[in-house]
Amino acid sequence: MSYRTYVQRCISSECRAEFDLDARLYVCARCGGLLDLERRGEVDSASLRELWRQRRASFDPRDRSGVWRFREFLPFTDDTQVVSLGEGNTPLYDAPRSADYCRLPQLKLKHQGCNPTGSFKDTGMTVAVTQARKLGARLVACASTGNTAASLAAYAARAELMCAIVVPSGNVSHAKLAQALDYGAKVFEVEGNFDTCMNLIRELAADESVYLVNSINPFRIEGQKTVAFELAEQLEWQMPDHLVVPGGNLGNSSAFGKGFRELFESGLIDRQPKITVVQAEGAAPFAKFYSDFAHEHFVNDEHPQTLASAIKIGAPVSWPKAWRAVQETGGTVITVTEQEIADAKAIIGRDGIGCEPASATTVAGIRKLKINENESVVAVLTGHLLKDTDYVIKYHSSNLIAPNGEKLESTFAQDLHDLQDLQDILKIM
Ligand SMILES: [Zn+2]
Repeated sequence: MSYRTYVQRCISSECRAEFDLDARLYVCARCGGLLDLERRGEVDSASLRELWRQRRASFDPRDRSGVWRFREFLPFTDDTQVVSLGEGNTPLYDAPRSADYCRLPQLKLKHQGCNPTGSFKDTGMTVAVTQARKLGARLVACASTGNTAASLAAYAARAELMCAIVVPSGNVSHAKLAQALDYGAKVFEVEGNFDTCMNLIRELAADESVYLVNSINPFRIEGQKTVAFELAEQLEWQMPDHLVVPGGNLGNSSAFGKGFRELFESGLIDRQPKITVVQAEGAAPFAKFYSDFAHEHFVNDEHPQTLASAIKIGAPVSWPKAWRAVQETGGTVITVTEQEIADAKAIIGRDGIGCEPASATTVAGIRKLKINENESVVAVLTGHLLKDTDYVIKYHSSNLIAPNGEKLESTFAQDLHDLQDLQDILKIM
């Protein structure tokens, strides 16, 4: 169908060093920059679209996966034993109440929380753990705010690899911790924040038998980029004007950027959506970089603060790739407040769609962006409602306190009722 080869390449324009596909690297060995997997080879876009469509009716586990179905764009040979949980294939919902809230005629939500472990991480993890097994690693490891931990633990279990996870003590939701433990991971709690954990794990990865799968790992991004392919297919290859994603460690925006670029360069789509990244106001180093006119120095946030724990990250490792995605597509980077996140999350819920707080930054952001009503918008929800139920109960019982100690308004709360209320409601009906 299509001839292809891959190399790992440094993204720094001054360096561009090239490395073998199976060199065990996380960053460029010459300059320390981020690495991309670079694909070489031609495609016939019409026959590829047809092949991918046919695979939807197949029972081959690789064809059932929303990631491996697009394997012509993944850096593996056809005989690779993949580690899969049937990830991807997530719904693209129409969300009329959320659209109203954003003063738009239409809004679509791509719900990556409908993956096997309840977050977008699974689409990257299936590829990274497949590569770990190919390299003969004995132990896979990551630092995590929770979702990566749950995902890696599950895929490591499928691959029968040992799994070590470093999390910030007291900063991970119970649901996410429960997942990691149940899938058999060794979980290490560390005093400090996510960035402390990340530094620790990078030291650990110096050991040859350890394979690091945080989103700095370019194979993670390869898997996550297939979400752009799946979305394009769901929209019958007609791209929206805007794609809006939450911004934490910025792996998501990096992956969408790479996915859309490859689709465009291969003639599978005729334009790329503008990628907009939304950060929580208290954890917004990327938004600060964007609004600094010179765009010269990226300054980490030493004390990121937000209740949206999945994006409580002050030193996002993938920022140069995310920056490339925003620049190339003409997108933007904005922030939203804790109050805006909480209210947007409740509105998304009213559409019958449950997401975790970080995902709701998207709808909160779209409301702020004042998008022209002729323009089409897709927002990406990154995690499932059940990832953080404490937050939900606190919101609906008017008990949600922001990190700065301020009590948040429960604007769209549903109170818990007693039976007398039910009788009153029936009378009104
Ligand atoms: Zn380099």
